[in-house]
Amino acid sequence: MGNMMSQPLLISSILQHAARHYGANEIVSRRVEGDVHRYTYRDCHARAQQLANVLQALGVDAGQRVATLAWNGYRHLELYYGVSGSGRVIHTLNPRLHVDQIAYLLNHAEDQYVFFDMTFLPLVEAVAPHCPAVKGYVMLCGGAHMPPSSSLDNLLCYEELLDAQAVQYDWPALDEHAASSLCYTSGTTGHPKGVLYTHRATVLHAYAAALPDALNMSAREVALPVVPMFHVNAWGMPYAAPLTGAKLVLPGAAMDGASLYELFEQEQVTFAAGVPTVWLGLMNYVTQQQLRFSTFRRTIIGGAACPPALMGLMRSAHGIDVVHGWGMTETSPLGTTSTLQARHLDLALAPEAQQKILEKQGHAVFGIDMKIVDADGGELPWDGMARGDLLVRGHWVMQHYYRHDNDDALQDGWFATGDVATIDADGYMQIADRSKDVIKSGGEWIGSIDLENIAMAHPAVAMAACIGVPHPKWDERPLLLVVLKPGARLERAQMLAFYEGKIAKWWTPDDVLFVDSLPIGATGKILKNALRASYCGYQLPGVA
Ligand code: AMP
Repeated sequence: MGNMMSQPLLISSILQHAARHYGANEIVSRRVEGDVHRYTYRDCHARAQQLANVLQALGVDAGQRVATLAWNGYRHLELYYGVSGSGRVIHTLNPRLHVDQIAYLLNHAEDQYVFFDMTFLPLVEAVAPHCPAVKGYVMLCGGAHMPPSSSLDNLLCYEELLDAQAVQYDWPALDEHAASSLCYTSGTTGHPKGVLYTHRATVLHAYAAALPDALNMSAREVALPVVPMFHVNAWGMPYAAPLTGAKLVLPGAAMDGASLYELFEQEQVTFAAGVPTVWLGLMNYVTQQQLRFSTFRRTIIGGAACPPALMGLMRSAHGIDVVHGWGMTETSPLGTTSTLQARHLDLALAPEAQQKILEKQGHAVFGIDMKIVDADGGELPWDGMARGDLLVRGHWVMQHYYRHDNDDALQDGWFATGDVATIDADGYMQIADRSKDVIKSGGEWIGSIDLENIAMAHPAVAMAACIGVPHPKWDERPLLLVVLKPGARLERAQMLAFYEGKIAKWWTPDDVLFVDSLPIGATGKILKNALRASYCGYQLPGVA
């Protein structure tokens, strides 16, 4: 054995480090109260310590769960550290879910308290009668914003709770394998399943997320997670930013183009992260208003395939480097990112060839291992052609779902992602589809992402989704649903003609429907299953 110290990897140590070494660096939040709040990592650490004392006073034991229903903001960040750092488990609930789902999750997780942004008071009042085991509800505001009356029995005020506690608190030396946070998968079918992260996995993930080919976080960056703190811990940014000293800008509930742009400029944001739909909104706004970003240089886009047209627009019109990232709730989420290597630059690849590499979901970050397999589990070659089920394993990949201790979620130690992918000889992975979204036509697979990406490249198209609809001869055929840009006109034949020469002819959608909007789920992704349900009886042209 070697002779080095054995120190547990603990979440509390990240904020402690930030307070000591980047104490004056800022955390700026747009609050639901309407104003912009700013303080420092030193302030955040002090208040997280007070919060740990609050939890002690409320009688929340180590390992017990504390839920949040909150946007990205400094109080939510204090909960990330105060709850996990003190040995409790933070359960970040998605407020966009239905009341019944939220009640189910609160009961399933046996949450003791719910900390919520004041805009969610009506939601919490609707949920509470279904959750008798919850001991109390804490509104994230000061006394002046507390409601004069509420149907909640035990409604407490966050700032008053904090004020009553001392700052002095010694973070416990926990086991690094102890549970730290809980996040449920989007759960498009059946009940959502919980992924229970550990301190160790979270700290290692934060290290990896900070790397140059991932989020490239440093004390010189100003980072804005548009991705919500209830969507896989905002992809690790609330940990990677204090770990590196990056200034953190938290946009609260205002995700519209105008509000985001204002914050980007006001706070000189250099780096941001979010799902494609968010960037489509922001880019439409800046294009319409003919605005420029003065400091925004880099973004990571993931959660769903990033349309190459969006990547191209961000890069060519605004000089923003887009890093395409892939991950899942079960993988903390960082799995792969797409960036070029010196070798690609030395080869003096044409910009189009570079772009093709960047459009892929990318290479595994250290800590993640991946492979693709056929239906029998046989490993497929890394030739960029063979498509198979993507399996991963690594330091921050889930072992089994929360409260499914006896279900082996793994295949010989690998986690089956449910994604279908190719991997090229350089190790760049490309997602063809979610296995449930693949269109099965005549025994062959058509990747819906490819069809959507082509449609999105048409200048008249704002958003596109492609689904398989039943076909008597071919089993399924692609149906393309298109939302046009405001004022744009496009005929079905023109849309279909746009596919010519870009894909095999038999991949061309059988029909195009122009719709006003597409259903967007709680994490900002297009709900393909809802579309499939709506169009399962759709009569394709030429089908009797
Ligand atoms: P969630 O756990 O809700 O974040 O969903 C994870 C799933 O989102 C993955 O299994 C993929 O199907 C999809 N996903 C995430 N990132 C990407 C990406 N860059 N490209 C395509 N699909 C993605």
